Amino acid sequence: MSKPVRVRFAPSPTGPLHIGGVRTALFNYLFAKKYNGTFILRIEDTDQNRFVEGAENYIEESLKWCGITVDEGVNTNEKFGPYRQSERKDIYKKYADQLIANGKAYYAFDTADDLDAHRKNHEAEGKTFIYNWHNREKGRLVNSLVLSAEETQAKLDAGDDYVIRFLSPQDETLHLTDIIRGNMTIDTNILDDKVLFKSDGLPTYHLANIVDDHLMEITHVIRGEEWLPSLALHYQLYDAFGWEKPEFAHLPLILKPTGKGKLSKRDGDKLGFPVFPLAYKDHQTGDISRGYREDGYFPEAVVNFLAFLGWNPGTEQEIFSMDEL
Ligand code: GLU
Repeated sequence: MSKPVRVRFAPSPTGPLHIGGVRTALFNYLFAKKYNGTFILRIEDTDQNRFVEGAENYIEESLKWCGITVDEGVNTNEKFGPYRQSERKDIYKKYADQLIANGKAYYAFDTADDLDAHRKNHEAEGKTFIYNWHNREKGRLVNSLVLSAEETQAKLDAGDDYVIRFLSPQDETLHLTDIIRGNMTIDTNILDDKVLFKSDGLPTYHLANIVDDHLMEITHVIRGEEWLPSLALHYQLYDAFGWEKPEFAHLPLILKPTGKGKLSKRDGDKLGFPVFPLAYKDHQTGDISRGYREDGYFPEAVVNFLAFLGWNPGTEQEIFSMDEL
């Protein structure tokens, strides 16, 4: 590797850490250790509607129980720390403004009702609604979604609520590379202009994630496959900023026994094993879910189980220490 390896585990504190999340953290951690790199914990807490009190602490305790130690992160406060996105709001706004100044993003003032109306109009015509400025320019949208510079300024001066949308480049074929999936291509005309900055003054996942991966000098993004559909947008964002991209590896998810959908707590209950490392109290229902620790599993067993899901080192050895892994 030419650059020092830096990887991150970037959970959103929306609930207990699922076994799939532990696996993502473990793969990142082992990759960092193998290459003498740095393993970062970044708490992605910019979606306030989904924020769950106590989840961050639960995540940290779960990692600790598994023996996954963090080199930089929320509580290490070194170099760039703390890595809690809600504490880095001004940084994201600066980069959103930079995109606007360079003509790569724009203000949009649509209310939820406006968007609903656009969607319905399109459905009535049998079309899928894609919020995209270029489509409007080509006359493909019935309603005007984007305002002139003067109209925009007047609305900003009047203090109207706005979001900042990415001006997603169109009419090209994007070539994506994933360490696991290989090469993929995507027609950019199916992409919409995603919101980067919300009216509550917080960035969306996409903007905060790209800005942080760049500033934190992440070399490899190793994350769950549910983020593969966002890869095209992330490529476009890196290009819009003119930043070098990290390498990407999207890990297959841990699925239900039927193979359809992510393994849930209920599946775990049915199969007789927990899906959380530690016991967890649901903040809404008050229900306590048992965890591996409370069920008497050894952390080494859980780590080995996760490390060898889907591959095998081809030896007779049954249990590996973290160092050996
Ligand atoms: N915050 C995202 C999550 O909860 C992180 C996705 C990523 O690693 O880019 O899964």
